[in-house]
Amino acid sequence: METAEAGHDDVIGWFEHVSEKACKVQSQTLRRILELNSGVEYLRKWLGTVDVEEMDDNTLETLFTSLVPIVSHAELDPYIQRIADGETSPLLTQEPITVLSLSSGTTEGRQKYVPFTCHSSQTTLQIFRLSAAYRSRYYPIREGGRILEFIYAGKEFKTPGGLTVGTATTHIYSSKEFKTKQETTKSFTCSPQEVISGGDFGQCTYCHLLLGLHFSNQVEFVASAFSYTIVQAFSLFEETWRDICADLKEGNLSSRITLPKMRKAVLALIRPNPSLASHIEEVCIELETNLGWFGLIPKLWPNAKYVSSIMTGSMLPYLTKLRHYAGGLPLVSADYGSTESWIGVNVDPQLPPEDVSFAVIPTFSYFEFIPLYRQRNQQDMCSDGDFVEEKPVPLSQVKLGQEYELVLTTFTGLYRCRLGDVVEVTGFHKGTPKLSFIYRRKLILTINIDKNTEKDLQRVVDKASQLLSRTTQAEVVDFTSHADVTVSPGRYIIYWEIRGEAEDKALEDCCREMDAGFLDHGYVVSRRMKSIGPLELRVVERGTFGKVAERCAGKCGGLNQFKTPRCTTNAVMLDILDGSTVKRFHSSAYD
Ligand code: AMP
Repeated sequence: METAEAGHDDVIGWFEHVSEKACKVQSQTLRRILELNSGVEYLRKWLGTVDVEEMDDNTLETLFTSLVPIVSHAELDPYIQRIADGETSPLLTQEPITVLSLSSGTTEGRQKYVPFTCHSSQTTLQIFRLSAAYRSRYYPIREGGRILEFIYAGKEFKTPGGLTVGTATTHIYSSKEFKTKQETTKSFTCSPQEVISGGDFGQCTYCHLLLGLHFSNQVEFVASAFSYTIVQAFSLFEETWRDICADLKEGNLSSRITLPKMRKAVLALIRPNPSLASHIEEVCIELETNLGWFGLIPKLWPNAKYVSSIMTGSMLPYLTKLRHYAGGLPLVSADYGSTESWIGVNVDPQLPPEDVSFAVIPTFSYFEFIPLYRQRNQQDMCSDGDFVEEKPVPLSQVKLGQEYELVLTTFTGLYRCRLGDVVEVTGFHKGTPKLSFIYRRKLILTINIDKNTEKDLQRVVDKASQLLSRTTQAEVVDFTSHADVTVSPGRYIIYWEIRGEAEDKALEDCCREMDAGFLDHGYVVSRRMKSIGPLELRVVERGTFGKVAERCAGKCGGLNQFKTPRCTTNAVMLDILDGSTVKRFHSSAYD
């Protein structure tokens, strides 16, 4: 039987090979996509009946990019809806589509569906293997060990046409590829399927933690899809560790776990273990009383080599807390992908998350890059509000230091579809670009002529939360915002959940700091002119964002992919936030 190490060499060898000639591989990838889906309704509409097999790679690429338009999801949505309604003629792909994924974002107020095919699970398996191989170069792990994985499969449902819908991660965790991944990487998740697919964040997390401790000496690393989940999980642990220790001692399961299948599966795995329980209890008492839970992970999982999850982009705000729990263990930033397609792999797992970039995998999709400029300094470019755009370029023409929006043509039937992510080319891995994730495009806060992105918001919240931790014993646990135009003048509201005690004076200062921190010219001018009112900081009670996550994730199918929206207009979410507001502050920055 092949060892994991030999498997690692194989998969890295494959990736080095395709990266070396990434430009050529991209042309071949486009050809494969078009040959496989030749004659589907969408392509016929734009390409007519051309015979793609007869054309050389260059002609094909030119023809494709000149005839097929760049679209957003909204333009492909009518085709996807017809598939969802049960139409079986080949609309986007020749291979019948039987499963749809829910992607982040909406299309005209409806949830966004993306086709999911066997290609989706195969590429997932491939990137999992590749990523494990790169990680093991820097942080080798023991074969046959375990992963404490905070993963959650959401619920699946059927469309009127009988197709299965769920998040991409839900499909993956129930696929045979997920089992294969464990076998080929020779690392096994601590929790059984009944826990992963339990569907209740609190109960699943409790069992993940319990089993993680039950197998504590075997755990080689800690992981989740997005780092928000790890932070949430350990925050829950701080509150439940006594119950967990009692369960470990007696080989029992707390009555808080009410799901029968989950109870049965967990009880079948654990045995009374009083010595482990008392050891964990001792460590927890020390962590709680002397260390403020600093270094929780290495203290409780002494053989863990690193923590792995997506830590970039909208996960950056959780990094401080994650570092606190990891207490010096390396944080390995996981790969870059979307429901539409996997995009890039982290080939430098040793780098801190702030410096990570992702090497594009040229066989997974055909990638195009729309150059983006922040200033209107040239003519004959079209402007899309936040940026000025130039004509899209193929992978072979991307430039170092340039920002781009990604456009994908996938094996699953998306043709020249904008992803909405802004990335910067920060280097090359052999012949393939390395992308650093900047943020998701689109303005999130705008009332007047002001334009603030998620990144702008994140920056001001970061600054103010640093001020808070410098001046008080409190810290910001989570945040979101809302552009309130129901009052005149409109103003920004920022909601904070904080942990610890903070005097009103300190919070007033934070509120002012944030208001003054938005440097966008339109905002500054509007604030000075009082066409935008003073920013309001609303402090919500502890646990509010947990409630928001439960509510929203319940609707869109899984906490695994849940990311706190940094700005919201969602009435349900605003209701929860406003109902939980305990303090309000108005900025005096422009008085
Ligand atoms: P979804 O399709 O709902 O899973 O969301 C995909 C989106 O999550 C991407 O388009 C990115 O905006 C974000 N994302 C995925 N991977 C990363 C990453 N490694 N770093 C930052 N953001 C990411």
